[in-house]
Amino acid sequence: MAGDRPTAPAATTCPGCGLVAPDPGGAAPAEHRASAACSAAYGQVLARSYTDPACRRVHQMVVDAYAAQHAGGTTRRQVQTVALCLMTLCLFVEDDVDITEGPALHKAMVAHRPDFTWLAPPPRPGLLTVADVLTAESPTEHCRVVREWGAQVWQAWSPHHATVRAWNAQALTPRT
Ligand SMILES: [Zn+2]
Repeated sequence: MAGDRPTAPAATTCPGCGLVAPDPGGAAPAEHRASAACSAAYGQVLARSYTDPACRRVHQMVVDAYAAQHAGGTTRRQVQTVALCLMTLCLFVEDDVDITEGPALHKAMVAHRPDFTWLAPPPRPGLLTVADVLTAESPTEHCRVVREWGAQVWQAWSPHHATVRAWNAQALTPRT
């Protein structure tokens, strides 16, 4: 009987990064504009950050690239999250700032934050995704893919580079 063959779970496409993957079930995440499958892969990559010190070195770039690739929410909190992540992504990619400085940078940015405005997410076709990071078989490979992913996502946001650089200048200028 044809009905005896098990059916594969339906594939879903992530609205943020375009990842096509079987639906693991469960609700889509509230925090990011992402599919449940993509969110699950993100969770696995984050788990590496928390268990492997070598992977932890690029943790902030994972968070930034993921948030920027799955932007779209317009609440005040979502707008600020994407702004802060783009600001550190800019520093990591353009100025080669140490990625482990990320949390301290976000703290400083929030203290002197400009009025963030919503930035229309650019089209992001064909970029690396969190699922590509997941295929890395060593911490060295993990870090290499994360850096390449972060650089691609930052490049995709080029229509807003000038705005993000201006926010950085405003938030991080030393005050007397
Ligand atoms: Zn995604």
